[in-house]
Amino acid sequence: MTTRVSRLAPSPTGALHLGNARTFLVNWALARREGWRLLLRMEDLDGPRVRPEAAEGVLEVFRWLGIDGYESVGNQSDDLEPYRDAMRRLAARGLVYPCALTRREIESAPRAPHVGEHELRFPVELRPPDGEPRAFDAEDTNYRLLVDPERLRIDDEFVGSSTHAPFDDVGDFVIWTRRGVPSYQLAVVVDDARQGVTDVVRGADLLPSAARQVLLYRALDRTPPRWWHLPLVIGTDGRRLAKRHGDTRLNSYRERGVPARRVIGLLAFWCGITPERGPLDPDGFLRGLDLARLSPDPVTFTADDHAWLLSETT
Ligand code: GLU
Repeated sequence: MTTRVSRLAPSPTGALHLGNARTFLVNWALARREGWRLLLRMEDLDGPRVRPEAAEGVLEVFRWLGIDGYESVGNQSDDLEPYRDAMRRLAARGLVYPCALTRREIESAPRAPHVGEHELRFPVELRPPDGEPRAFDAEDTNYRLLVDPERLRIDDEFVGSSTHAPFDDVGDFVIWTRRGVPSYQLAVVVDDARQGVTDVVRGADLLPSAARQVLLYRALDRTPPRWWHLPLVIGTDGRRLAKRHGDTRLNSYRERGVPARRVIGLLAFWCGITPERGPLDPDGFLRGLDLARLSPDPVTFTADDHAWLLSETT
């Protein structure tokens, strides 16, 4: 039997918070318990908030939490050639086109509703007329993937099946950016494929992305991994844990002297490992984890949780 491979793929933004930590800890515990290899990949191309110098801070937090036993495969920015190569293959198949339209121009198209906080649906009317195959020859340009209207089923190991329509959700999405680097969607597929990842464990906010990524796997003749999209941690306003909920960064608890066993204890309580909050070490988390007891609903981070964390400091 071939060994399964999973990966931790943090974006070094300096903002590792309790929500990310829960996903990473579950990923680590699953891999350790099931005997999967666990890779660590720094996603340092992923968006404007990335600060390469934050990578060391992420590793420190992992050490602090007891996340260990991973093999580092480096930073995405170390070598852009695999992404360029994928772009050339997609271009040779006539699946991509350059697009110089600005966000404002796309927004002013008649049918361009916003999908999420940052995302726009690209209206098919703005697609260039068919014709010449388009080469990948200008790295400082956005390139989009041609997306057909079809429904895709994602069979997730944790959430079960769901159906997605990337054509309606986002339309032709950007896979190469004018910053001269691949977009998140392309980078993650190229890396997971070439690094032999068989099991992707990550937050539920990325479930719609899985459908986009399946399109890329298909276009690149690769097999998608198994997906495990874990529920998010949200604030009492029902929104995804973020700055607006106060400083829930692990580093800030750590700097305030909160011991890691408290943070792990809270995460364990959120995972159904313990019936109530209590300090726990990483080994206890690993041994107690049972995905059947992990609620599929988002977890709400409350003021009580925050106070409980701070009730023991060193
Ligand atoms: N780097 C991404 C993040 O930190 C994770 C991407 C993924 O797991 O596919 O949100």
